[in-house]
Amino acid sequence: MVVSENSFPEDPNELIAGLREQLEEANRTIADLQEKLDSASAAKGGPDTGLETTPLDEMETTLRRLVQRIAMILQAEKTVWMLYDRESGELVAKPPAYGVDEDHLKTFRIRATQGISGVVFREGRPEIFLDAVRDARTLKDQVAYFNVVNGVAVPLIVIKRDDQNRVIDRQTIGVLHVWNKRHGEEFNDEDVRLLERLASSLAAVITNMRIYQEVVEERKELLQTIESLYAGLVLVNKDGRVAQLNASARAMFGISGTLDSKHYKDVFQHEGAVELFRLGLDNMAKDEGEAGSTAELTINADGHEHVYQCQSATVKSEEGKPMGIVCIFNDITEIRNIERMKSAFVATVSHELRTPLTAIKGFVSTLLMDDTGFEEVERREFYGIIDSECDRLTRLINDLLNIARIEAGESLKPSYSQVSVRELAQKVVMIQKQSTHRHTLFLDAPAELPKITADEDKLDQILTNLINNAIKYSPGGGEVHLIIEDLPDAIRFGISDQGMGIPKEHLAKVFEKFHRVDNRDNRKVYGTGLGLFLVKHLVEVIHQGRIWAESEVGKGSTFWFEVPKHLDPELVDD
Ligand code: ADP
Repeated sequence: MVVSENSFPEDPNELIAGLREQLEEANRTIADLQEKLDSASAAKGGPDTGLETTPLDEMETTLRRLVQRIAMILQAEKTVWMLYDRESGELVAKPPAYGVDEDHLKTFRIRATQGISGVVFREGRPEIFLDAVRDARTLKDQVAYFNVVNGVAVPLIVIKRDDQNRVIDRQTIGVLHVWNKRHGEEFNDEDVRLLERLASSLAAVITNMRIYQEVVEERKELLQTIESLYAGLVLVNKDGRVAQLNASARAMFGISGTLDSKHYKDVFQHEGAVELFRLGLDNMAKDEGEAGSTAELTINADGHEHVYQCQSATVKSEEGKPMGIVCIFNDITEIRNIERMKSAFVATVSHELRTPLTAIKGFVSTLLMDDTGFEEVERREFYGIIDSECDRLTRLINDLLNIARIEAGESLKPSYSQVSVRELAQKVVMIQKQSTHRHTLFLDAPAELPKITADEDKLDQILTNLINNAIKYSPGGGEVHLIIEDLPDAIRFGISDQGMGIPKEHLAKVFEKFHRVDNRDNRKVYGTGLGLFLVKHLVEVIHQGRIWAESEVGKGSTFWFEVPKHLDPELVDD
């Protein structure tokens, strides 16, 4: 039965019967949709059916029609319903209303302790008023503001019943107002009875809608959380269809476009992943996968190899029925790299310790022998070697101690003074010249260079380390330049060599601790991968500067760093 404003039956009972029928149908649709939504939202299965908007729209249409029909049945100009807001303690008018526009409607709110709305809500009984302007009860509601003359207000009560239709719970959720009886008439008790019956239907629809909205909200939140997870997450239904795939998982497996409930074998090309899902589903079928299983996959994403730790587990419904499997992929590439670097580090440090120790032990044993007959010159040479090997050991141990300090969050203690850049550079170059015969060292610096506030020892350490590397990583010899430029606010240093160079992808990473370029040329050059990490700290933290490198493989490298001429006084005071 279709009811329109122009042609509704005279007999209100017939009309109500028709409406009831429609309402029941609407409620059935809602229940049906709810069921579908439940199975889709249970993050445990069900493809994305895009249910977020359609049922809500339908419910709103039902509500709008109902509100309009309430006005028609009561022969009133306006229908407004209010919900109790627990947080603010207010009764608040909600759309859709009939005969009141939405902007206007928003202003209609009142404390649940006040006005006629408050009485109806608190006492749970209907009220009629005949003259809104003079009636003391409607003053607070300010209904006159809506051009209201007379009206009926009834509570919106939700009644819960058990299987035998016995009432198990009653809850007043708001108030339903009907205003201005048409044709200059007044509302009477018959209207109240009618309105009470309609109010219970309205309350049922509102409750359904609220439950639905909550479910949708929860589902949205859940989906957003899943979507924004750093880990990849894949949900596969028990029939093998992919139900969810978050952004990280899509990036990981290079999947774009919609899933359309495709089978996992049609979505994933990666053999390891396919095997993982197959195993997961097998375990689910055998009821063994609940505790979950772990595997490691290597996936080539964005041109790099990544190692993922994958955990899969069976997802069960509340009743314990298996619904599918969930797989989480954690990127552990960095952890694996660090593990690898740490073992390489242990090997290199052991080597770095053993080499000078072997030399020291060798020369000391030789010198201890009585019958060696070494000349004084030779002896002195041996002592010299022992001395420099001891220095090497001290350097390494100091490096390790400094790293430990930086790791613990302590900055290395600076000791600032006015440093003559030129003198320091000349000294460093002179000392380094003595350590190599294959390389020619140059100092390319202007004749006049200012004094700057710096930690002389640490600036020395930076330059020595970089020149040392320049020599170390150009085993074939060549030119090594220490370039100094006098900039307006800073001094720029450049250390260039004609050595093996650094591949592009390593240029930034060489400043990370333990990072060493691992290739045929480098493997022969021993080191710990700590030097540049310390140098970067000394430049950035101790001298408020910056450091970077330029390089071409096979041609050579230049390490640049800049330190300000005037350090932050606060830091100098430190
Ligand atoms: P170490 O020299 O002890 O390995 P560093 O931290 O000083 O540690 O350097 C890190 C890595 O950077 C080196 O292992 C090397 O691969 C690369 N590197 C540093 N300086 C140069 C250079 N001048 N030329 C080529 N490679 C370099």
